[in-house]
Amino acid sequence: MKIIKTHTGKIYVDQEHKLEFLTVGDYGKENNIKADFLGLHKEIHGVQHHDVDLTQKWVATISTQKGCPMHCQFCDCPKFGFYGNVARGELAYEVETILRNEDVRSTSRFNVHFARMGEPTWNGEVLAFTEHDLRGLVAKYIVADTVHPVVSTMLPKHNKGLEGFVLEWCRIKNKVYSGEAGLQFSINSTDNEQRDTQFNNMSLSLEEISALARHLPRPVGRKYTLNFAVTEETILDTDRLSKLFDKDRFIVKITPIHKTASAVRNGFNVTTEYTDYNVYRKFEAPLVAAGWDVIVFVPSEEEDSDRITCGNALIAVKD
Ligand code: SF4
Repeated sequence: MKIIKTHTGKIYVDQEHKLEFLTVGDYGKENNIKADFLGLHKEIHGVQHHDVDLTQKWVATISTQKGCPMHCQFCDCPKFGFYGNVARGELAYEVETILRNEDVRSTSRFNVHFARMGEPTWNGEVLAFTEHDLRGLVAKYIVADTVHPVVSTMLPKHNKGLEGFVLEWCRIKNKVYSGEAGLQFSINSTDNEQRDTQFNNMSLSLEEISALARHLPRPVGRKYTLNFAVTEETILDTDRLSKLFDKDRFIVKITPIHKTASAVRNGFNVTTEYTDYNVYRKFEAPLVAAGWDVIVFVPSEEEDSDRITCGNALIAVKD
């Protein structure tokens, strides 16, 4: 297995098991997040790299599939191919490898993001693993005040089990984790045509996502999240979003589309966003004015160049 050191952690590239997963720390939300509703009002004009402290927040990002059968235009994972779902024991193996290889033995917060390779709603083992295995596994290695798992989905339209998965995840979030879990929908645009291009016609329409959202139970703890990975060309129509989704149940998260090989090749404008807040302000301000809770998350240049961000997969890049 190849272990690649990054500025904020490590990436494990496991060719033998066809897996890739990573461990990172965080710069602290006052340094890389603007969210008026959380009292974080400072505009983020670029994020300065500094050492991270895993005892404060520790993020494990793991794969749920070996490669990915979706073909999102901004993502490198499909280039690896697709070799099936990650088994429940292999999900544990990813988390366990991460925990075992650090000296840190306690943390305020251990996040597990099912967001390296794969679309998690295709893999029902994610549900069983989260409900029955994850917290016990973490407790074997560290004392974590909070264990916070997060599912991000691009809502694949051919997945007949999608709604069942999402409802089950909501039950786990609300009942098993008392609200301490995340559910994120990758929306990226309020224009179906623009979405279809980005998600290669593999995601539900916005109207279908809206209908699904109406079936979700009221979130306990944190609201659900509508993710927008943006470039200057992104269409984000606040009125349309407000008609489609309930701002009492959802927040909006804005991030840049990352500089993955595929995003560059497919012509996404990914070059300017890290130090220029103007790009985000034009999306954030109308949403906040309309009463939405909005988080703007900005990675550092180091994080992006380390390719720890969403849509990257080093295993897909041949040496
Ligand atoms: S963004 Fe997610 S669902 Fe889309 S191709 Fe990449 S790993 Fe698959």
